Amino acid sequence: MQIYKVGGAVRDRLLGIPVTDVDRVVVGATAEEMLAKGFRPVGADFPVFLDPRTGEEYALARTERKSGRGYGGFVFHASPEVTLEEDLIRRDLTINAMAEDDHGNLTDPYHGQRDLEARLLRHVSPAFAEDPLRVLRVARFAARYAPLGFKVADETLELMRQLSDSGELEALTPERSWKEISRALMENQPQVFIQVLRDCDALKVLMPEVDALFGVPQPEAHHPEIDTGVHTLSVLEQAALHQQPLTVRWACLLHDLGKALTPEQDWPRHIAHEHKGLKPIKAVNERFKVPRDCQELALLVGQYHTHGHRALELKASTLLELLQSFDVFRRPQRFEEFIAACEMDARGRKGLENRNYPQADYLRGAAAAARGVAVQPLLEKGFKGPELGEAIKRERLRALKAYKEGTH
Ligand code: ATP
Ligand code: MG
Repeated sequence: MQIYKVGGAVRDRLLGIPVTDVDRVVVGATAEEMLAKGFRPVGADFPVFLDPRTGEEYALARTERKSGRGYGGFVFHASPEVTLEEDLIRRDLTINAMAEDDHGNLTDPYHGQRDLEARLLRHVSPAFAEDPLRVLRVARFAARYAPLGFKVADETLELMRQLSDSGELEALTPERSWKEISRALMENQPQVFIQVLRDCDALKVLMPEVDALFGVPQPEAHHPEIDTGVHTLSVLEQAALHQQPLTVRWACLLHDLGKALTPEQDWPRHIAHEHKGLKPIKAVNERFKVPRDCQELALLVGQYHTHGHRALELKASTLLELLQSFDVFRRPQRFEEFIAACEMDARGRKGLENRNYPQADYLRGAAAAARGVAVQPLLEKGFKGPELGEAIKRERLRALKAYKEGTH
């Protein structure tokens, strides 16, 4: 049997980027031979093995044939006769379809090296169109390698467009889609992921609520970039520049969905867009079975981001309601993430990227003031049950009033 490194490990070594996960392909072996050598089988669908000593993956060379719609509709054929070239041709991009042996010799039948130099994400063969997940994968690689100057090749974008228009994207499971979306949002330039999906018509299939933001104007005084879609991309860009976690990035992407629902005669103002946004945010959350923490933050940021921007003008009672909505007393971290999302929203505007955002510290101070109210003295005064709750609330309100007076 011959063993080769394949995929990301080869690509990233040639790019001079640190390699984290190494995939290997095994040519000329049977599953029985792998088991006899001590490899452990993983995955039910195709013959992949783990080296128990290193945890690295070894896949038997295989060919694939599409047999129906969606991911389930694949027939795999792995046998010792499958050649390296046959295995490589089923891969998505030329830069992912190179193999390297132990001596560093490269096998590159589909000119991945040429495309690495040309900074092009190009499909290997027309079979690309057999798995709609590849639309998301290519957009994700575009987001990751944009800082190096990579672009999607025109003919690949055209194939991605055909896939989007064919309805095949709808066959993706929520789990597979979310895995790609969440990884893409954590890349260097997540805004490129959304832009590429838009360029190939996939965004209007996957997230029509986000696609609908493009072409919707906002008041120039607050939004020099005007277009709500452009603003959303800038907010995502800021979130990545500030290394925000996935929860914050997800909330940034969805925070303004309500603006797509404003009647045109009301443009460029967006009255009550925060509340109108809740329904579409919920729809996107549910479509991809998004993890609970991301779902919750997106809804809260959607509803309250304008409160964040107006923090310094809020009455003490409104501040308290805001803090309670976030359950800041038990979940301080989530409130921090809200503040971060608001700040990214404020910076994701043309020419305002480096503005100050005093609201952030003001909100932190308000949370600290309210959290500083001690319960023990109230217990000692004999408050209990609902009365205790009311007393705590009264004290917190008093603390917030004092905070406002002290800081204004
Ligand atoms: P990463 O750095 O994200 O791990 P990678 O290129 O190694 O990037 P993997 O998901 O680990 O990506 O997959 C390893 C290789 O398997 C890819 O480089 C590609 O050749 C192939 N591959 C994975 N998923 C697909 C797919 N859906 N369609 C075609 N080829 C795929
Ligand atoms: Mg990999």
